[in-house]
Amino acid sequence: MDSGPLSETAVLVTGASSGIGAATVRKLARDGADVALVARREDRLTELADEIAAEHAVDTHVVPADVSDPAQVTAAVESTVDTLGSLDGVVVNAGVGRGSDVETLSDEQYRAMMNVNVNGAFYTARESLPHLREGAGSLVFVGSFAGQYPRPFNPVYAATKWWLRGFAHSLAGQVGDDDIGITVVNPSEVRSEFNSEDGTAFNERFELGEVTEPEEVADAIAFAMQQEPPTTINSIDVFRRDKFSHF
Ligand code: NAP
Repeated sequence: MDSGPLSETAVLVTGASSGIGAATVRKLARDGADVALVARREDRLTELADEIAAEHAVDTHVVPADVSDPAQVTAAVESTVDTLGSLDGVVVNAGVGRGSDVETLSDEQYRAMMNVNVNGAFYTARESLPHLREGAGSLVFVGSFAGQYPRPFNPVYAATKWWLRGFAHSLAGQVGDDDIGITVVNPSEVRSEFNSEDGTAFNERFELGEVTEPEEVADAIAFAMQQEPPTTINSIDVFRRDKFSHF
């Protein structure tokens, strides 16, 4: 096993096939954690797991799954515990943005956001909690700037992230006594593949240096993951420096 702040731990990351999730898997493995990679695109997960196995002495577990399907989430969590031996951390990161104006938002776009950002987060948390309780583990949610401030450009996306933040902080009240740490990491724009199914991906829309990189959010997630009882990091805002310039 790699030595490092997270050695001897097993962490499951949803949305591990690109962007923030992939960067988080790399960072956690560098910190010594065994990692379970969850997303729908198995080829991407396998490629990333192979890269990690070549660079770090940690175990990897590839779990192709759709987080909007509760049965697949249950199976993903169970197979992770069976394969890696425990579940000490979970990063609820899978998320999508679709459309813009409420009046023209299709049922499909609406459901895509609700199914992944809200339902998927709930299923992942619900299935993980019994295992996290066993080892005083951590649950890190990837929220958004859009979950803290109104977003005229996309009210439904914003609402899914407001839900996530409300859920996370309320859940902290419910399971804090069990020594489970809950964190919400709120990034502003990140140069990932976000928006790629709906237009121009953020890593094409923004130049290098213009907004936050996925690796910077991954560092924040890993920092939260390293906390031990009685402490947790309640929330981390990772904003680009000029985010409030036009407020
Ligand atoms: P990304 O590169 O598009 O990654 C999204 C990830 O979510 C992919 O790995 C995708 O994998 C996964 N995913 C989507 N639907 C899924 C489903 N049904 N089941 C399982 N996995 C699913 O975008 P990202 O920026 O890294 O997004 C990660 C998180 O950051 C999201 O929650 C997003 O809302 C949040 N965020 C992003 C930004 C930004 O500007 N980029 C800002 C604030 C917050 P598959 O397609 O392989 O399933």
